Amino acid sequence: MGRIRIQDLTKRFGDTVAVDRLDLDIADSEFLVLVGPSGCGKSTTLRCLAGLETPSAGDIYIDGDHMNYRVPQKRDIAMVFQDYALYPHMTVRGNIKFGVEEEEGYTKAERMERVEEVADLLGITDLLGRKPAELSGGQQQRVALGRAIVREPAVFLMDEPLANLDAKLRSEMRTELQQLQNQLDVTTVYVTHNQTEAMTMGDRIAVMREGQLQQVGEPLELYHAPANQFVAGFIGEPMMNFVHGRREGETFASDHLEYPLERDILSDVGEARDIVLGVRPEDVAVGEQPPAAEADLDDHEFRMDVSVVEPHGNQNVVHLSPPDASDDHDVLQAVTEGMYVTSAGESVVVAIEPDHVHVFDEATGEALH
Ligand code: ATP
Repeated sequence: MGRIRIQDLTKRFGDTVAVDRLDLDIADSEFLVLVGPSGCGKSTTLRCLAGLETPSAGDIYIDGDHMNYRVPQKRDIAMVFQDYALYPHMTVRGNIKFGVEEEEGYTKAERMERVEEVADLLGITDLLGRKPAELSGGQQQRVALGRAIVREPAVFLMDEPLANLDAKLRSEMRTELQQLQNQLDVTTVYVTHNQTEAMTMGDRIAVMREGQLQQVGEPLELYHAPANQFVAGFIGEPMMNFVHGRREGETFASDHLEYPLERDILSDVGEARDIVLGVRPEDVAVGEQPPAAEADLDDHEFRMDVSVVEPHGNQNVVHLSPPDASDDHDVLQAVTEGMYVTSAGESVVVAIEPDHVHVFDEATGEALH
């Protein structure tokens, strides 16, 4: 129960194409995260699933049933919003019970029993008599979840449900939500613009941009094999480094850097000339001090100057720029262990293993390697 098929879905608002020919299959019990920058069409997709918007074209199926014109109440879904949407005049008990109020097949006693069960599951039994104004943000979020869970729907739709919580609570609730989803085993479509949330929560992640699906896959698949430069830049923190340059024979050359290209990269790059080299900061190795002499550097090593060091405790983000560069082209960020000590102004040796290099087509952004 809870299989979703989105076929060629388009949603227009006047001249704005909010969702553009989206195809997506979501498996039963799957936790799918829809992610992308503001305005990319995530919420509109979710609202079409919920029945709060009617598609301009395309089809939506849940468990094989066509949903396009079915009212939200008849879709066997429950939605959780960013602003919780609790009724201020009702108690927590009333708010949760509201979720099951219209459901058929429950007696009054069963409804009350369900409310107690769900409150117990979410650890909010002692709050049942309170009003929303007397709750913290995290507690209100739990009540909103309770109202969704109580109905035992086939699908949960969640739109940035943790966005209003502070960082610590957000990370706690992330874990709790995942555990809850595992326990309840209900198909969940979860919208966020936060790549960390996507990476840590999703069984699969669907990345959208300007209404179009860019890639869908497991978190590590997107991390290791992004389909294009947009996905590569969106997934991963700090962001992947991009160096713009050209292929010159068997070498990549940018304004300040040269990097030899291995045979497998050359064959993938083919005829493309203007290319972008992508390397994740965690794959930029910053060498020990003092730096080796120029003559002792191997092919995949080069000297760079440290411009800024951001200590994060367990690790540092080191900003590097090419020696003597008067512009900000070809700057890199590297992640080093927190114990590694370096400071602005120092010269270091940087190594990038060929295995860690991504290559994108400058014109189209498509991943070549
Ligand atoms: P955010 O993360 O900011 O919520 P989103 O990815 O969820 O963004 P949508 O809310 O789906 O994006 O919006 C997609 C596009 O459709 C945007 O350009 C938005 O301005 C437009 N849009 C959404 N709803 C409407 C509407 N009711 N009327 C007109 N335009 C709309």
